[in-house]
Amino acid sequence: MCVRRWNFAAEAIMCGSPMANTDLMPTPGAFDPVPTPRDITPRADGRVDLIGLPKARIRDLFEAAGLDAKAAKLRSKQVFHWLYHRGVTEFEAMTDIAKTMRPWLTERFVIGRPEVVEAHHSTDGTRKWVLRTADGNDFEMVFIPDADRGTLCISSQVGCTLNCRFCHTGTMRLVRNLTPGEIVGQVMLARDSLGEWPKGSMAGLDEVEDSAEYTSDGRLLTNIVLMGMGEPLYNFDNVRDAMKLVMDGDGLALSKRRITLSTSGVVPMMERCGEEIGVNLAVSLHAVRKDIRDEIVPLNKKYGIEELLQACADYPGASNARRITFEYIMLKDKNDSDEDARELVRLLKQYDLPAKVNLIPFNPWPGSDYETSLPERIRAFSDIVFEGGISAPVRTPRGRDIGAACGQLKTAAEKKSRAQRDREAAEAAEEKSAA
Ligand code: SAH
Ligand code: SF4
Repeated sequence: MCVRRWNFAAEAIMCGSPMANTDLMPTPGAFDPVPTPRDITPRADGRVDLIGLPKARIRDLFEAAGLDAKAAKLRSKQVFHWLYHRGVTEFEAMTDIAKTMRPWLTERFVIGRPEVVEAHHSTDGTRKWVLRTADGNDFEMVFIPDADRGTLCISSQVGCTLNCRFCHTGTMRLVRNLTPGEIVGQVMLARDSLGEWPKGSMAGLDEVEDSAEYTSDGRLLTNIVLMGMGEPLYNFDNVRDAMKLVMDGDGLALSKRRITLSTSGVVPMMERCGEEIGVNLAVSLHAVRKDIRDEIVPLNKKYGIEELLQACADYPGASNARRITFEYIMLKDKNDSDEDARELVRLLKQYDLPAKVNLIPFNPWPGSDYETSLPERIRAFSDIVFEGGISAPVRTPRGRDIGAACGQLKTAAEKKSRAQRDREAAEAAEEKSAA
C-alpha cells in the first residue's frame, strides 16, 4: 500500500436466508477467480451483521424476521441512518426506536466492525491498523493526515493476485476478496478511532439536522483512496456496494470527488467503474515501455499500455476538472530516464488525457529487487514532465517507520504464517532425524 496516494485526495481524491451456506465461492466473471465470501458472513450465534448491507436488504431481513412490510420499511430506514450516518454500535443507542424493539433487534442482528489486531502511530502522524476478518484473515488500513485533508487508504482484498514486482502485498500467499461490510467497516472504524461521528440528539428522521454538526467540515477524515491491499477492480461488486454506502447522503455521506480508486490496469472493468461507482481514477502506470511494464506490472501482458490508455481516455467523468492520476514508481535505472519521461509526456498527449502524474519514490521492503531512484534523477524526470505541461509532483513517503508506506503493506499474520511454516519444517526435520 502506499503513502503518496493520500496526498491527492482533494483533487483527485444473498440472497436466500441469512443462514444459507456462506462458504467461499469463486468470483463470477471472466477474470482470475478470487475466493469471496457471500455478503453475509455466517456467525456462530446465528445473528446477522448488518454492516455492509444496503437499506433494501436490511428491510428484507426485517421482514423475513417477522415485521410487516410497513414496519420493516420504517425500521430499516431508521436503523440504516443510525448505522452509517451516526456510527452507533449498539441497538440500545437508537433512541427513536421503541425500547421494546431494541432487544428484538439485538437478538437477531449485530453491528460489526473489523477486529483491530494492531494499531501503529508514525512519528509523522501517519497511522496504520492491522485488521482481522471474522474468519481470521488480516489486512491493513492507513490514515495519512495532511495540513488541508486527511486521507484514509483502505484495502479491497486480503493480499493481491497480481504480483507486481515492486509491491510487498503482491508477495502475499493468502488472498480473498473483502466483503462490502469489511470494506465500509474500515471507514467506520477510522471514524470511531478519530471520534468523528456526528454527536447530539436525534429525535427523528424528519428532524432537520444541524449543518454545523453534520457536514464533514472540521473532520480529520476527508478523503478515501482505494490504494491499500488488493486490486479493487478484481473485487468490483463488493467495492461498488461499499462505496455506495460511503457516498450515500444518509450513509457516510462522503462525496465521490473525495474518493479515488487505484487500479493496476484492469481494462475491462474501467468503464463500469466510472459509470457505476463514479469515483476518481488513479492508474498505476509505472512504465512506458512494454518490456519494462511487462516485468514490473505483469498484468501488462494481458492489457497493454495502449489499451490501458485508451480505456483512460474513455473513462466516464474524466475531465480537466477531474483528471486521471497516473502513478509512476521511481525505480533506479529501470524506468527513470529522461527518455522515459519524454515518452510519458508523448503518450499522455497522444491520448489527449486529462492527466496528472504522481511520482512515487520506491519504498523498499525486505527482499525487494529494486532500488529507489536518486533524488536528482526524480527531480529531472519531474521537470521534463512539468515542461511537457503535465503536473508531476513527487510524493513524499509517509509512515515508512511503521511499514505504512505505499507497497509496504503485508500483514504480520502472513509473516507469522511463514515463520510458522519454517518452525514446522524445522520440527519435522528434527523429528525425522530423531527417528
Ligand atoms: N492494486 C491497485 C491499488 C493498490 S496498490 C494498484 O496497483 O493500483 C496502490 C499503489 O501502491 C500502486 O500505485 C502501487 O504502485 C504502489 N506501490 C506498490 N508497491 C510500492 C512500493 N514498494 N513503493 C511505492 N509504491 C508502491
Ligand atoms: Fe496488487 Fe497493486 Fe501491489 Fe500490484 S501494486 S501487487 S496490483 S496491490
